[in-house]
Amino acid sequence: LVVLDNVNKHFGALHVLQDIDLTIHRGEVVVVIGPSGSGKSTLCRTINRLETVDTGSISIDGKPLPQEGRELARLRADVGMVFQSFNLFAHKTVLENVMLGQIKVRKTDRAAASKKARDLLDRVGVGTQADKYPAQLSGGQQQRVAIARALAMDPKVMLFDEPTSALDPEMINEVLEVMQQLARDGMTMVVVTHEMGFARSAANRVVFMADGRIIEEAEPNQFFNNPRSDRAKDFLSKIL
Ligand code: ATP
Ligand code: MG
Repeated sequence: LVVLDNVNKHFGALHVLQDIDLTIHRGEVVVVIGPSGSGKSTLCRTINRLETVDTGSISIDGKPLPQEGRELARLRADVGMVFQSFNLFAHKTVLENVMLGQIKVRKTDRAAASKKARDLLDRVGVGTQADKYPAQLSGGQQQRVAIARALAMDPKVMLFDEPTSALDPEMINEVLEVMQQLARDGMTMVVVTHEMGFARSAANRVVFMADGRIIEEAEPNQFFNNPRSDRAKDFLSKIL
């Protein structure tokens, strides 16, 4: 579904993505882990073209990423993204947050957008919060709204960049459970996370990055029990 072929990117002198080859299949859950600064966020951001690449290619459904205009807006809808900070529109209600993209990008009419938004808010467990403003919600609730907002676009793939790392501990699980359910429902997902429990239980594949490179890719059991590279062994010894 998503294919990165020999992708390279620099920030000035920093070679932040080096010869990245990565294929994400339909329905697959890929968890990306690695030390701070290894390029995980940059990798995610290139997939919905929040960042451009220097060389190499990225395609979704066999088509190269569009460069601009309406096609680019559609790409951003096809590739749902959930960040560490929730990025909801503060001056719009929860319901309006989940309706907006449907109306603007997908050209859905208001009634259908509202119905779908309510269904999705129920699905992520915040249906009763629909008429509140984001600031009136807990962090975990806001993050679940952000997930519902991305899902409202019927994305082909969902990218999560450390979706729980800004949350208080007691709210982490409610967000991870929504993500687990999404994975069970067959959503194609790329998840950058430090939640190794989630990686073990939900991932089909773990991708370990360091210094802008993919060092190792493996099934979670194999990766956690028997990492091949010294870099991965060292990383795991610090976090597990
Ligand atoms: P973390 O675990 O801390 O989130 P990461 O693996 O997500 O780290 P990135 O955010 O992708 O890492 O950053 C990789 C490197 O690129 C870092 O050294 C970072 O400082 C640098 N970097 C990221 N964005 C930019 C930018 N817009 N301009 C210049 N350098 C950048
Ligand atoms: Mg990051």
